[in-house]
Amino acid sequence: MDNTEAAPLQDADLGASKPVPQPQYKTRPFQLPTVIACGHLLDTRHLPRHANCEHCWAAFWETNVEFLPKVHELLLNSGTKAVTAIYGAKFTEALGGYLRKQLLKLHGSAQVQAASGIEVVDVQAERTGQ
Ligand SMILES: [Zn+2]
Repeated sequence: MDNTEAAPLQDADLGASKPVPQPQYKTRPFQLPTVIACGHLLDTRHLPRHANCEHCWAAFWETNVEFLPKVHELLLNSGTKAVTAIYGAKFTEALGGYLRKQLLKLHGSAQVQAASGIEVVDVQAERTGQ
């Protein structure tokens, strides 16, 4: 047998018949931010999935800075029933909890105490006389 004899060129498939592979880019999934305090993922475009987690709600309120005043206004004008009717009981509860916390923070600050003339006293310490 003579191996040096080349095959006829017109029959040779040099790879041209194969489709040129297109680069396949993997789509990266949209990564949700994580709430540091609890480790839950939070999609700030929606209400928190962990509806009982106060850290998720706090993060939600702090990232939706335009939404909070609107809901607060609705709460002041129409009461908790109106807020519950639109957003649900868990939402109202979470909103109340967040606002309460903010108020306590505010009253705890020395500036507000000085301005209003009130002093937040440690009730437990007074009761026990310490
Ligand atoms: Zn959470």
